[in-house]
Amino acid sequence: MREFNQFKKDLAALISFRSVRGEREDNMPFGKEVYGALSYFLEVAERMGFNTINYDNYAGEIIFGEGDEIGIIGHLDVVPAGGGWDHDPFELTIKDGICYGRGVQDDKGPLLQCLYALNELKNSGIAPKRKFRLFVGCNEETGWEDLSYIQSKTVLPEYGFSPDGNFPLSYAEKGIGIFEFRIPHLKNFHSLSGGSAVNAVCAYAKCTEDGGADRETAEKYGLRIDGELIESFGVAAHGSSPHLGKNAMLPLFKYFAEKGENVGSVIECLFEDRYGISKLENEQGKVTFSPDLLSEDKEGIKITCDCRIPAPFTLEDVKRIADKFGIPYTAFEKHPPLLVEKEGWFVETLLSAYNSVTGENGVPQSMGGSTFARAFKYGCAFGCEFPGIDAHIHDANERVSEDNLEKSYEIYRRAIFALAEK
Ligand SMILES: [Zn+2]
Repeated sequence: MREFNQFKKDLAALISFRSVRGEREDNMPFGKEVYGALSYFLEVAERMGFNTINYDNYAGEIIFGEGDEIGIIGHLDVVPAGGGWDHDPFELTIKDGICYGRGVQDDKGPLLQCLYALNELKNSGIAPKRKFRLFVGCNEETGWEDLSYIQSKTVLPEYGFSPDGNFPLSYAEKGIGIFEFRIPHLKNFHSLSGGSAVNAVCAYAKCTEDGGADRETAEKYGLRIDGELIESFGVAAHGSSPHLGKNAMLPLFKYFAEKGENVGSVIECLFEDRYGISKLENEQGKVTFSPDLLSEDKEGIKITCDCRIPAPFTLEDVKRIADKFGIPYTAFEKHPPLLVEKEGWFVETLLSAYNSVTGENGVPQSMGGSTFARAFKYGCAFGCEFPGIDAHIHDANERVSEDNLEKSYEIYRRAIFALAEK
C-alpha cells in the first residue's frame, strides 16, 4: 500500500472518536462522537478530491466514476469498548506488527481501505466504466437507522459489497423471521422472564413458584432455587447458530412439565423440533429456530423466537410447519434473504481478487448472520476477517496485523480496479 503511513494516521484519527451510539444532539442523530468520525471520514475523502454527500449526519457517501453503479457500504460506529484491554481501545496502538483499537477491523479500518483503494483508482488515470458509490454508515451496530435514512433519500445500487464480514466472501445471508408464541398463564408459576435479545440464545431465565420450589426436582434440571425464585442458566450464542449455545428456558419448561403444567407442546415443538423445521435445508444450511425471549404480561406468556431461513425457503414455509404446533402465534419477516448468483460475474470478480492475492482457492460462503451487504439487491459481505484469524471483533483487544492490513488492502484494490474495467 503506497500511502500506508498516511492511512495509519487517518485510521488513528478515526479510532480516536469514541463512536459508540450516543444520545441525539441537535443535528447529530447518533451523538457527537459518531458525528465526529463521519465528519473526519468525509474530510479525508474531500482532501483526496472526491465528491461527497452528507445524509444529515445519518450517513455519508463518496462518489467516483460514471456508468452502472457499484455500491460499497461499511460503518464508523462501534460497539462499546468493554473491559479487558491491554491498551487504550480508542488509541490506535501498534505493537510487534499488530494494530489494536476498537474499530480497526469492525469496521473503520476496512471502510477506510476501500476509500484509499478508490483514491488509487482515481489517481491511476483509468476512466472507470462504473460509478462507485461508497456509503459510510453510522448506525450499523444498533438499529440500521443510517441505512433506512439513506434508502429514504436515494436508490441504492443493485450490486455492491460490504467490507464488514469474512473473506473469501458470502454470497447468501439467510432471511430472518420473528415468531411470537402465546401460551396461557401457568397454574403455579409466575413472573416468567428470560433472554436479553431476540437474536441471542437465552442464557438466563427465571420465574417464581407458589409455595417455594421443589428443590430436589429443580436440581435435577440444574435450576437454582432461592426461596420462591427459580433461576436457569444457559450459554449465550448468536441466534443464528443456536446449536452453539444452551437455551436456559428449556430446563425451566421441563421442570414445569414435571410439576404438572401443560407445556409439553412448547417443549416438543419449540425446543425439540417435533415437526422438523430443521429439515428445511439446502447448501446454505438449515432453517434455524431459536426461542430467545421469554416474558409474561396480563394476557399470558410470550415466547419470541429467532428464525433464519435460507432462500429459496420462505417465512411461509416455516409458518406452514408452525401451524401444526397448536400454539397461537404471530410471525413477521425482519429481513428477506439475500442471495447472489454464486457463479455470476460479481461474485467471480470479488473472489478472484481474493484468490489472486492469497494464492488460495477460496469459494463463496453463506451465512446466517446479517450484514450491510443487505443494502444491495445483489450484495456480498467481502472481508475483511481472514479465515482462521480471530480479530477479536466486539471483544477486548480488537486487532489486525499490519501484514493483513496490507493484504486486505491489496484485495480491495484489485477488486475495485477489476470492477472498474467490467
Ligand atoms: Zn461491523
